[in-house]
Amino acid sequence: MQSCDLLFDREHIWHPYTSLQDPLPVFPVQRAQGCEIELTDGRRLVDGMSSWWAAIHGYNHPHLNAAAQAQLNDMSHVMFGGLTHQPAVDLCRRLVRHSPDGLERVFLADSGSVSVEVAIKMAVQYWYAKDLPGKNRLATLRGGYHGDTFAAMSVCDPVNGMHSLFRGSLREQLFAPVPELTPADEWNDAALAPLEQLLREHQHELAALILEPVVQGAGGMRFYHPNYLKHAAALCERYQVLLIADEIATGFGRTGRWFACEHAGITPDIMCVGKALTGGYMTQAAVLCTDDVGNTISQGPAAGTFMHGPTFMGNPLACAVANASLELLEADHWRGQVAAIEAQLVAELSPLKQLQSVADVRCFGAIGVVEMVSPVNVAAVQQQFVEAGVWIRPFGKLVYLMPPFVITSEQLSKLTHAIGELARNG
Ligand code: PMP
Repeated sequence: MQSCDLLFDREHIWHPYTSLQDPLPVFPVQRAQGCEIELTDGRRLVDGMSSWWAAIHGYNHPHLNAAAQAQLNDMSHVMFGGLTHQPAVDLCRRLVRHSPDGLERVFLADSGSVSVEVAIKMAVQYWYAKDLPGKNRLATLRGGYHGDTFAAMSVCDPVNGMHSLFRGSLREQLFAPVPELTPADEWNDAALAPLEQLLREHQHELAALILEPVVQGAGGMRFYHPNYLKHAAALCERYQVLLIADEIATGFGRTGRWFACEHAGITPDIMCVGKALTGGYMTQAAVLCTDDVGNTISQGPAAGTFMHGPTFMGNPLACAVANASLELLEADHWRGQVAAIEAQLVAELSPLKQLQSVADVRCFGAIGVVEMVSPVNVAAVQQQFVEAGVWIRPFGKLVYLMPPFVITSEQLSKLTHAIGELARNG
């Protein structure tokens, strides 16, 4: 059993969204296998988070391991400038095949946030190439989350994203209200009025509308009516604004479809994917766009150069693992798995709605959310969950699950039971 130097960690290492002065506790991990994370003290925790939406096939998967090992023996990396390789070609062919019809061109990026930067750049360069350089702002929805780099941050919810800390450094974008109607509500066209007004009034300066299709993830774990997305796409067309779909959290089966755009039957102009792309093995993302977007940029100024090219673009190791992950999805077991997870989440979480501590329970695909009345004490609740043998990471009032697709019904019950205990006993 390895040990982990928690003192050095405590004194020198930043963890996500923490202060060095008063960091939240961290738990040292020895290994992860299937749907379990094993701590260095031997405790095994059922994973409810898929390591932030990514590990959809579970950990230490033999097919993904074999792909990584085989690729290591050929090459782990070569630059993508002036060179190419079959793992990248195979991956891009798969992405084009599985994404909504009409997305034909692919840019491989390093992480979700970087893919959002790339998508925004594409939108800006598109209008520049059309001799409309004034169309360079973005519209988006309140309650959204698109990443932590600067352009991505500018389109995150201004309150959750603490825009006040970065005033003067962040481009000011245009925000429509959080979509009100949920997938279960009866549709009403009036729900689109604020977005329509925003697009109509600002079309001359807007490059794109960026949104998370149907599921707003880290900005609040909300689900909205697919008709909103469908009509938003039509409005973008009417007002000559590109549509960027951020499928980084929703992509690769999480909502019961390959991509959440399918719920609305739309093809965005630009689409970002990441997270589960490599089955959670390593960081890689991609941006897909239509021929129109790709060709317009490529016929624009500066010899049509698209101005992006990261060092690790097209990393062969990541491409090989992504191909293996997509092969597993192509075997199509995920549809049944996601449907079963959804049914069990509904059955086991919905009764919690009656509790006084619970404000709302909502489930969509393999995502289950319990919104509490008050914010939870993350440090205390995390400890309580670990003692109960589960890994669930709440934020604010939200306690939520997005488990690996391969989770067993017993493991999922352990997760929902732990949330039930929290909701009942605090
Ligand atoms: N967009 C969405 C919808 C996300 O959920 C995330 C990550 N939580 C990102 C973008 C940013 O991705 P990354 O953390 O890989 O930069």
